[in-house]
Amino acid sequence: MSVDLTQVFTQAALASAHYRSVVGDLPVAPKPETVESGPPFDMPLQRHAMPAEQVVDELVAAATPRLVGTTGPRFFGFVIGGASAAATAADILTAGWDQCGYNEVLSPAAAGAERAAATWLKQLLGLPSDASAGFVTGAQAANTVGLAVGRHRVLANVGWDVARDGLFGAPRIRVVAGEERHATIDRALRLLGFGTSSLELVAAAPDGSIDVGALRYVLEAEPGEPTIVCLQAGNVNTGASDRFEDAIPVARGHGAWVHVDGAFGLWAAASPRTADQVAGVGEADSWGTDAHKWLNVPYDSGLAFCRYPADHAAAMSYSASYLVGSGSTSDFVLGDLVPESSRRARGFAVWAALRSLGLDGVTELVDRCCDLARRMAARLEAGGATIHNDVVLNQVLVSFGDPSRTDAIIEAVQRDGTCWVGGTTWRGDRLMRVSVSNGTTTEHDIDVSADAILRAAASV
Ligand SMILES: *Cc1c(COP(=O)(O)O)cnc(C)c1O
Repeated sequence: MSVDLTQVFTQAALASAHYRSVVGDLPVAPKPETVESGPPFDMPLQRHAMPAEQVVDELVAAATPRLVGTTGPRFFGFVIGGASAAATAADILTAGWDQCGYNEVLSPAAAGAERAAATWLKQLLGLPSDASAGFVTGAQAANTVGLAVGRHRVLANVGWDVARDGLFGAPRIRVVAGEERHATIDRALRLLGFGTSSLELVAAAPDGSIDVGALRYVLEAEPGEPTIVCLQAGNVNTGASDRFEDAIPVARGHGAWVHVDGAFGLWAAASPRTADQVAGVGEADSWGTDAHKWLNVPYDSGLAFCRYPADHAAAMSYSASYLVGSGSTSDFVLGDLVPESSRRARGFAVWAALRSLGLDGVTELVDRCCDLARRMAARLEAGGATIHNDVVLNQVLVSFGDPSRTDAIIEAVQRDGTCWVGGTTWRGDRLMRVSVSNGTTTEHDIDVSADAILRAAASV
């Protein structure tokens, strides 16, 4: 079957562009009846081949009524960054080129883009310029990589080769984290063979940041043991970051490996207005962050940085006879820094997002989202809501009286479709959670969304 590539790729690009040009006018979450109305995905698979054009048509018809406007300007749930135009276009090219990001031989292009993007990111985020960077699927994977490297290093320091001998019979590692860490830390620890019960939790201050006095106390209880300390830039509820300038020296004093989960909060470093919230973060040993959140790169895109490239590669790489002589131009290849072997060339979209914004554009993006979060908080408060956090970054916690009423209002907002907000439980309170992380969100979007939320509140 001959395929007209121009026709079929154009068809896909046009459908994406069309969707993106109307997403701001659609209900943010599709109405249940719209979801029901779409032709089904689920059908018996036919025996014969189908022309690609027809497949694309069918896919567009089945998917479109079921798309959620997470990429639109009024989706404030989770921490979602709508992919920017340049990054999306680069991702379309990534699929078109279909490069494997394992090493330079498989794709000098993929490798070049990743190395350049990593250099820019380290500059923007205040990380050491010689840190290694693995392009992974997201902060979950990045946290797993950072903690795997930490596991390798703290055991190597006491003469144990975890790569060869595993954890059975290994010296115990203390894993210390704040009680308001992100849940992906727990999963990473589970995957790495620690078990969540090995986690030693440190009390958090009211804003969710780790209590540094309590951290010192916990560490001093058993000095000298191999230890990993997990810190956080950007609590997923409040947006507050740990006080790295105080916490990292304490952890260092105990010889600990310090990993920072900075999925979105690390981006505070990109603006002089917020950089003090993460001052000293560059002193850690490993960092995880997302590009698909605040940088507005399409899914899936995250980064695992490590101060020690050799440790990073030692913990993550593998070797195979057919790989020897297959393209290592430096001490390690890109595939040595991630859990994947074959891998999408994620660097293209990150490179394009950064080129499109420039250094000032990233700063401005961070500032604008923070301003918009504060605007949302102010309008909701003026309308009678209670704001439960100091809006230091892009997260806002809101309540409207008792928990069931707040939940009912969240549901009503989601049904209304003007915007989308989720719920959370923060320090015992049931709250609405607003996260502003999309470069296309405007003041007008905030105003109509605040109105919709207040309307929902009045109706419940
Ligand atoms: C979103 C988030 C994660 C997980 O990131 P994924 O991109 O979903 O893997 C981890 N930590 C924090 C603080 C987050 O906000």
